[in-house]
Amino acid sequence: MSDFSCVVEQVVKRYPRHCALDGVTLSVPSGACVALLGHNGAGKTTLMKLLLGLTRPSSGRVRVLAEDPAAAGAGFRRQIGFLPESVTFYDEMTGQDTLAYLARLKGVDRQQCVALLAQVGLTEAADRRVKTYSKGMRQRLGLAQALLGRPRLLLLDEPTTGLDPILRQEFYRMVLALRGQGVTIVLSSHLLTELEARTDLAIILRQGRLAATGSLEALRLQADLPVRIRVSSEQPQSLSEQLAGIRIVRSEEKMLHLAVPVQEKMTVVRHLTSLGPLVNDLDIQLPTLDDLYHHFGHLQSEESSAA
Ligand code: ATP
Repeated sequence: MSDFSCVVEQVVKRYPRHCALDGVTLSVPSGACVALLGHNGAGKTTLMKLLLGLTRPSSGRVRVLAEDPAAAGAGFRRQIGFLPESVTFYDEMTGQDTLAYLARLKGVDRQQCVALLAQVGLTEAADRRVKTYSKGMRQRLGLAQALLGRPRLLLLDEPTTGLDPILRQEFYRMVLALRGQGVTIVLSSHLLTELEARTDLAIILRQGRLAATGSLEALRLQADLPVRIRVSSEQPQSLSEQLAGIRIVRSEEKMLHLAVPVQEKMTVVRHLTSLGPLVNDLDIQLPTLDDLYHHFGHLQSEESSAA
């Protein structure tokens, strides 16, 4: 089995008046949970459509599960689950009938439906019409249909939009359980902080180009953004006098906010702990996915304005 579920090489997708993807090269390791990030119109959905074989690249090469998705047959499709950004169902059908109908369309065994409805917590509501479902229940039914056929690759396009924080947590719990079973997951979202703990790899698109890709650790190193250290102190004035050469970003009544280059983090922490009663407490915040997203987006826009 290939080490990569998806390989995209020099892909361009051009529409008559717009280039949605422009020379994108990336790969998705098998079994990874991948965050696909980008502003509105960056090309996330277009990339997903290419991976699904719903559209062909204008040039370049796409391979998914070692096949050309645009040319592959039903057997290939059964190995892929897709939850589109706005999933729609027939309102008059029950959850159970909806899933059975979609199973028939996908050519998979209908016997799976009962277990899938249980997996997404819809057993109790299985006989209710979809029009009575809440947004969260519809999303769960959407996930259940994406899981028909026990796919090896799951593409989720902004799956938690419109869900409240508790439902989002619940949704991510289900998705993570799937990753635990070896399913490769590509998930696009604007809710960066929620993705952070769940991401093996981030792909950041900007204006159809690949702005950055890598693990969070790799992107942090590449971005070289400062580490933030929050220091609480009863005597912030005296403390700041002991911090020559260290950037103080903000000073509050009993708190100093420092920005420290990654490679100096430990030196600064040692210095702070040597200051005894001047320091009550400290906490260290590494650059977040949000910071990285803004950093790489910003670099790219500077490049294009310079071009
Ligand atoms: P969002 O976060 O808003 O869903 P996105 O990153 O998914 O955005 P895409 O839907 O991939 O972005 O669109 C990328 C660009 O390609 C946009 O400018 C869009 O208008 C354009 N585009 C997408 N599909 C088509 C199409 N079928 N015909 C013409 N232009 C298209």
